[in-house]
Order: sequence, then C-alpha cells, then structure tokens
Amino acid sequence: MTGSGETYDIAVVGAGTAGSIAAISAARLGARTIAVEKSGSIGGVLGLGMNLLGPSDGEGYWSLGGTGREAIERLRELGGATDLAYKPGRLSIIAQDPELLKLVLLIMARDAGLELLLHSMLVGVTAGDGDVSELHVANKAGVERVRARTVVDCSADADLVARAGGSFSFGRGTDRLTQPVSRIFRVGGVDLERMFNHLEKHPEDRVPARQDKQDPLPIEHLRGTPGVSFEGFGSLISKAKEAGDFDIPRSGMIVYIFPGRSDVGINVTRAQGVDGSDPRDLSRAEVETQLQMLTALRFLHEYVPGFEHAYISSAPHQLGVRESRHVTGLYTLTGEDVLSGRSFDDQIGRGSYPYDIHDVKSGGGMTVHTVERSFGIPLRCLLPVGLHNVSVGGRCISADHEAASSIRGQACCMVTGQAAGTVAALGAERGVALDEVPASDVQAVLRREGALLERTERVPDGAREVAGLVGRHR
Ligand SMILES: Cc1cc2nc3c(=O)[nH]c(=O)nc-3n(C[C@H](O)[C@H](O)[C@H](O)COP(=O)(O)OP(=O)(O)OC[C@H]3O[C@@H](n4cnc5c(N)ncnc54)[C@H](O)[C@@H]3O)c2cc1C
Repeated sequence: MTGSGETYDIAVVGAGTAGSIAAISAARLGARTIAVEKSGSIGGVLGLGMNLLGPSDGEGYWSLGGTGREAIERLRELGGATDLAYKPGRLSIIAQDPELLKLVLLIMARDAGLELLLHSMLVGVTAGDGDVSELHVANKAGVERVRARTVVDCSADADLVARAGGSFSFGRGTDRLTQPVSRIFRVGGVDLERMFNHLEKHPEDRVPARQDKQDPLPIEHLRGTPGVSFEGFGSLISKAKEAGDFDIPRSGMIVYIFPGRSDVGINVTRAQGVDGSDPRDLSRAEVETQLQMLTALRFLHEYVPGFEHAYISSAPHQLGVRESRHVTGLYTLTGEDVLSGRSFDDQIGRGSYPYDIHDVKSGGGMTVHTVERSFGIPLRCLLPVGLHNVSVGGRCISADHEAASSIRGQACCMVTGQAAGTVAALGAERGVALDEVPASDVQAVLRREGALLERTERVPDGAREVAGLVGRHR
C-alpha cells in the first residue's frame, strides 16, 4: 500500500450530494479535509438530472439552508435553477441544471481549499476500538492509505461504516426488500407544445398532485410553472403494455422540464430486487435499465405526442440507487417522526422531501405523501453506534425504511451532509469522540453558517400563492 503519510483532520468518503456539502462545509471551518470519490466529478446522484423536491415544507417554510441552499442560489445566479415553486399538492420544487450544479460544487470546493481525490474508491479501513485511523483507497496508483482524525461516510451505501464493522439494517429491515433502482436519461427534440396539448385533452394522462386527491394536475399549472415536473402518460403506458410494446415494471413516467429547453429528463426505467452494495446486482441493473432506455424511446416515438422525433441526448454515468444500507445510529428516525413533523432537542436541520416509496415489489406504483410540517433530524442519526470518530451524511443515515424514503431527498442529504462535516470538524479540532461534542455546539456552528434548524423562514409569497398558502400562516 502507498500513502503520503500525512494525517488529515477529516476524510469524507463519497463527494456526492451529501459528501460534497459535508467536505466543503468542513473545509470552510478550517479543517484540513480530503474527499475520496470513486467517480471523476462531484455531486453524485445530484448530477442525474432530477429536480430538487421539498426544499420547503407544505406549509411554506424553508427547510434547506446553509451550504446546500447557497449552492442552489449560486446555480440560480448562473441561470441553472428556477425560483422555488409549489405544485398544487403543496410539494415544493426547484428545477436545476445538473451539469452546471456539478460545476458550482467544484468552484465551492476549490474556494474552500478542499482536496479532492477523484477516481478513488474506498475498499477497506484500518479500525480498532471503534476508531477508524486509515482508509484504504483503490485508484490508478494501487491501494493507498489515507489517514484522518475523523471520517465521514457519505458513500450513500454506508461502505465505510460496513467496512469498519459498524451495524446497519438493509432496506425494509425484516425482509431486506429495497426500493427499486432507476436510470434517469434525457431526450432532446421534444415538441413540448404538442405534449401539453395531449395532456390537456387527456386528463387521464396526468397523475393527481396528491395521493389523496382525484383531480389530475391542472394543465394551467403544467404550462405555467417554469421547471415543472410531473408524472403522467399512464393510459398510454397501459395501451403499450396491452400491445406488448412496454415491459418496464412501471405504470407512469416522470418528466422533468427546464425552462427554455426542448430536452427533458425522463424517469421511467426500473429494476427490482437490486442490492446497491453488490457489484453483480449493480451490473445486472445497469444492463437492464440501459436497455430499458430503448424500450422507453420506442414508446415515446410511437405513443406520446410531441416525442415523435425525440432522441437520447444524454444518460448519466451511473444508475440511481434509492435505498440500500441504513446505518444504526444513536437514534433511528421513524416514518412517524417524518409524517408528524417531530422536532428534537439535538436536531441539526430539517427535512421536507416527501415520504416517497416506490413499490419494493413489482407493482410499478409509488406511495407519496407531502410533508406538511418539516421534521427535525437529530444529530444522533448521524452518529453510528460503536464508532467514535465517524459521522454519516446522506441517504444512509440512521432511519427506518419509511423515514429513509424522505431522508433520501436531495435537500435532506445536503442538510445532513453539512451537519456530518460540522460535527467531524469539531471532533477533530477538540480531539474527542464525536458523540462527546455537545449537540448545542454543533447547532451553534450550523446556525452561524446559515443552516435552518427551526421553521423560521417563510418562502416568498409568489410561491406560496400557488400553493394557496398566503394569508394562512402569517
Ligand atoms: C432514480 C432517483 C430519482 C430521484 N429523484 C429525486 C428527485 O426528483 N428529487 C430529489 O430531491 N431527490 C431525488 N432522489 C433522491 C436523491 O437524489 C438521492 O437520494 C440523493 O441525491 C443521494 O445523496 P447521497 O449523498 O446520499 O448519495 P450520492 O449522491 O449517490 O453520493 C454518494 C457518492 O459516494 C460515491 N461513492 C460511493 N461509494 C464509494 C466508495 N466506496 N468510495 C468512494 N466513493 C464512493 C459515489 O460515487 C457518489 O458520488 C432520487 C433518487 C433516485 C435514485
């Protein structure tokens, strides 16, 4: 094994949605920080091209603050993000340009003095008595040792915690079933006006804004909201299935639109029963979902008005995994905590991405509930049981299957990323175990850095009007 011999204050594993924010936030606090990332860019699943859902709650209060909010603001200044809008079902949404977002994160990383070790994958650790002293990282140079005082697991699959012998549950716990995986891709050459005309004439092709409502998403909302996304084309998919033209286990297609552009993001591929931490399962799912893109393209050509001349314009470097390991932390967030908007004394931020479960079996549907009142995320969910110098951010923090369906949202991952980086920086500076850093100290630093720990900031009236909220929460 090779290695520079130097000891960093913090090593972050995975510079994705949570990890990039964790590492930037830690470096800004003056900690000598390195981020180890297996791909060649940063942002992870953030770069696949979905929208930022649930940066604010159903009652119109921001949840996303701090470094994550700053990234989105900087993206908006570059023309790569829309203003916050609401769907009629009171789900908040910001459309974003994934390629620009990756660059914004890169600029923030550079300016923070963060060291990036790209094309480098964590394959093992040296750990004893609950302390991780070295990461073993495989890259072009062989296997390298990276030493750090504290380490942050933002690998999404809890690779670091698993290698260090920490405990975790998998998927739904009892039966280990996980949400399916999907490959997002973009198609160009779309005639959006023709598509909207079809949707106007065929309300059955517009999924209602909320699970508890029957009315299809209003066409005025679809046409009038910059950066809108929607689930639709259910009747066309049924028709195609009957004709033997569509074998993807899905009953609807999610379309992401960015204002002024004729290419759209498509979320329709799906593979079930995939263990995101198993290379063979991942390989099978990559092949399956890549080939499904062809099925989807044929379906779009033959069945969906406006897509007759569509072509695949890009497909991101990786599959999107919704769920795998959940670290066992000092507290495990529950689905009930999420839906009741529970607050905690040691909360490090708030979440309001919907409770969003894609069927774990092959039904093809989804269960989605808007989070009306954002929920607090305890610091304890970021601290794995039995590991003293490790914090966790992103979709693998300590949460049950139901709570994880909300915690996995991009905004939540940015929130937990910033907190995981912050507690790691304080622990490294003080030379103490991370569970010995008082939550109030972590909270004080987070507040100073712009994080939102309470429901104090309302979204602008313009967005709230669409959701019918102006006047209700003055
Ligand atoms: C198909 C799909 C659709 C979604 N739609 C939406 C949506 O519309 N809106 C929304 O807000 N959220 C959505 N989400 C959820 C959200 O985008 C993700 O859950 C979130 O971005 C995950 O963030 P993360 O930091 O935990 O993981 P990631 O962003 O995946 O980051 C993990 C990083 O770690 C790296 N890594 C992994 N293992 C190692 C290792 N061993 N060594 C080194 N590096 C490693 C990876 O390369 C990656 O960069 C969706 C998710 C999926 C999969």
